[in-house]
Amino acid sequence: MLDDIDLSDPGIVVKKSCCYFCHQNCGVLAYVKDGDVLAIEGDPEHPTNQGGLCCRGNIALKHLNHPARINKPLRRVGERGSNQWEEIPWEQAIDEIAERLSRIKEEFGAEALATAGGTLRTDDWARRRFMNLFGSPNGFHNALLCWIPTFMVETAISGWSPFETDLGNSRVLVLWGQNPGASGMPGMRGITDLKKLGLKVICIDPRYTETAAHADLWLPLRPGSDSALALAWLNVIIHEGLYDAAFVENWCVGFTELAEHVAQYTPEWAAPLTWLDPELIRESARMYATTKPGNIQWGTSVDQIGKAAGATMHARALLRAITGNLDCPGGDLMTGPSLDFVTDEEMEANEWLSEEQKAKQIGSDRYKLTTWPGYGRIAEIAKATWGKAPTAEWMCEAHAPSVFRAILTSDPYPVKALIVSATNPVNSYGNSLEVLEALKAVDFLVTCEYWMTSSALMSDYVLPIAGALERPIIHNTYGCSDSLIASQRAIQPKFERRTDFTFWHDLGHRLGQTEMWPWENEEEAYYYMLYPLGYDISSYDDFVERYRFHFPPMEYYKYGEAGFATASRRIELYSSVLEELGYPPLPTYVGPPENEIDDPEVAEKFPLVLTTGGGFMPYHHSEQFQIKELRFLKAEPYMEINPKTAESLGIAEGDWVWIETLRGRIRQKAGLTNGIHERVVFTQRGWWYPERSALGSDPFGVLESNANVLTSTSDEHCDPIGGSWANRGLLCRVYKDTEGGTR
Ligand code: SF4
Repeated sequence: MLDDIDLSDPGIVVKKSCCYFCHQNCGVLAYVKDGDVLAIEGDPEHPTNQGGLCCRGNIALKHLNHPARINKPLRRVGERGSNQWEEIPWEQAIDEIAERLSRIKEEFGAEALATAGGTLRTDDWARRRFMNLFGSPNGFHNALLCWIPTFMVETAISGWSPFETDLGNSRVLVLWGQNPGASGMPGMRGITDLKKLGLKVICIDPRYTETAAHADLWLPLRPGSDSALALAWLNVIIHEGLYDAAFVENWCVGFTELAEHVAQYTPEWAAPLTWLDPELIRESARMYATTKPGNIQWGTSVDQIGKAAGATMHARALLRAITGNLDCPGGDLMTGPSLDFVTDEEMEANEWLSEEQKAKQIGSDRYKLTTWPGYGRIAEIAKATWGKAPTAEWMCEAHAPSVFRAILTSDPYPVKALIVSATNPVNSYGNSLEVLEALKAVDFLVTCEYWMTSSALMSDYVLPIAGALERPIIHNTYGCSDSLIASQRAIQPKFERRTDFTFWHDLGHRLGQTEMWPWENEEEAYYYMLYPLGYDISSYDDFVERYRFHFPPMEYYKYGEAGFATASRRIELYSSVLEELGYPPLPTYVGPPENEIDDPEVAEKFPLVLTTGGGFMPYHHSEQFQIKELRFLKAEPYMEINPKTAESLGIAEGDWVWIETLRGRIRQKAGLTNGIHERVVFTQRGWWYPERSALGSDPFGVLESNANVLTSTSDEHCDPIGGSWANRGLLCRVYKDTEGGTR
C-alpha cells in the first residue's frame, strides 16, 4: 500500500496509531494527508508486533471507508426492526435520548437503564463513569466469557491475577484451551521462536489445533472437563512431592487442607471424566511441575465452560502457587495496579454509586464474585495493600443473561432502557433467541455502531461510531496492568462519526453531570491519566510521539516486602474470600454443564459433545464479515467433525449439516478432520450474513449459522461463582441438511 503514495510529499504526516481488530493492539503507522489516511503499515518499533500486521490489521482502510458504514445518527421512523430511519443531527439525538432516560429514571429508578458492551475497544471507564453518576449498577459486557472471572478467582486466591508472562525465561508453557496459532499472530510467533531455544509446550485442547501441532504434549480432553484435569494435576504434584515445599511453607496457607482434599482426585479418577489416559495426565503434571520455571497462560476456554468454570480457575490458580511459579523469573507475574499513573478505576467514579444502588445490581444475589459483593471485598483488600483497586468496569458487572431476562420478565425489576456499544448482542451473547426477543421487547434501545446489525436494527437510535484510526487508545489490560501502550488518532472521525467517549460525555452533560466531565476529549483525559508519570510531555500526543509506552522495570518477588494482597498476606490455598461469599474454599470437581454421566436422557438424544467459541482467522467475534477481502478467505461457515463420525451419519466433506442442542439448531458446512475426537464437534462462532435482507424473522441471517443459538445461559448451566455461561461442553446432535436451510 505504501507503494501507492509519494512518501517524499511534505504534506504527509505519520501518526502512531494502532489496530484494535483483536486485543493485541498491534502498532500501526498511518500516513495522513489533508485529514485522511492514505496508507498504513505495521509499526516496526512497536513491542507487540514489530512491524507485522495480520490479514485483519491490513484491511484497516477498507474498514475506515467501507460504503456500508453508518455515518450519521439515525432515528427509527417505522416499526421496530423494519429498517426505516431518518437522519437527525447529533445534538438532537443526544437531547432526545437524555430526555427519555430522565423519564425512565423518574418512573422506574436509575437501575432501569442497562448498558451492553463488547470487546475491548471503547473508553470503558467513561461508560462506567456515566452509569455511576446516573445511578445504575447494570452495565455489562460478555466479559464473563473472556478472562474476567479468571482474573477475579485468581485475585481472590493470590491478591492479583498473574497475567503477565516472562516467557523468555520460562522452560515450560502450558496453553490451557488457547490457540494463538489462530487467534493471535504476535503470541504464536513468540512461542515458535522460544521453542527453538528449548521451551517445552503442553497444549490442553480437544482439537488438534495449529498450536497443538507445535506442542510437546497434547491433551485432547473432553470439552468442559477441565476441572477434573486440574484437580488430578494437583493430586499428582502434591502426592508425588513435586511441589515447591519452601514456597508453600513460607507463602501459602491451607496446604494441609488442600493435600487432604485432593487425595481423592487421582489420574485414574479423572480419566473417564476427561477421556485422557491416566499416564498422560501424570506425565503432563510432572512436566509442568519439574521443568522450572513454568508458565500457565490464560485462554478463553475455561471462562466459557459454564458451571465448571470457577472450580477450574480455582484449581489452576493453586497449581501455580504450589509449584512456586508466581512472580519469579520465567513464572506468572503479578503486577498489581499502577501506582504511577491514574488508573481506569480512579476514572470510574465508583464512589458516586450509592450502596443502595450497588445492592440492586442484577445477578449479584447469585454470582457474587464478579459483582459488587465479591468485587467490593477484593477492592477493599487491594486498597489496604496498594491504596488502589482493580477496575470495576469488567470486574464488577451485572449478569448479562439475567438482564436480558429481566427485560422480558421484569424480574427482579423492570429494565426499560438499554444502550448497546461496540457489540452485536444477538450474535455475541449466549442464547441468541432470547437476546433477540429481549431487544425487540425493551422499551428504549440505543446502539452505538459501525454497521447496521441485527441488534442495531431493533434500536430507536443508531449512532455512528469512530474506529481505531479515528480515536486515541490506551492499552492497559482492562485497566489492570502497571504498564501501558498509547496510540494516537490518525485523523479526526470522518463524516459525523464520534467516539464513545464523546457520546458518554455529551449524554452526561445533558443529564446534570457537567462538573464531573472536566475533559473535552480523550486526549485531555488521557493526559490527565499520564501526567503523574512525570515525563516531560506537553500533551497526550506528545507522549505518544516521543515515548509511546510506559513499562516500569520488571520486578520479581514483589510480595517479599508486604506479602500478597490477601487478607492473610499469603496465597490462600484455602480461600477466605470464596468462603466469605458462601463458595467452597477448596476447589471441588464440577462436571461439564451437560454431560453423559449427569444427564443420560439428554445424552441419548444428543450424543455428541459441542465445543464452540474459539477464535478463527480472519474474523474476530462477529466482525469483518462484510469486508469482502476477508470474507473471500472464509466465505462460508464450517464445523469440524471426525470422518468416522461423519461417515456413520452419512455426511460428506462440504455437506450442509444441522447442529442441534436443547436450545435450537444452526447449519454450517461439514469439515472432516482427524484432529477432533469422534464424540466431539466444533462449530465456528460469529457467523452472520450482512449481505442478506434485514427484514423477516432472521435479520441478516443471524440465526442461521450463529453458534450462540446453541449455547446455554440458564442458571443451572452458569458458574455459580462468576456467572460464566456455557459455550463449551454441551450435548448436541448433528445431521445432514436435506431441507436446503429451512428453519
Ligand atoms: S487483528 Fe491482527 S494486526 Fe490487528 S491487533 Fe490483532 S493480531 Fe494485530
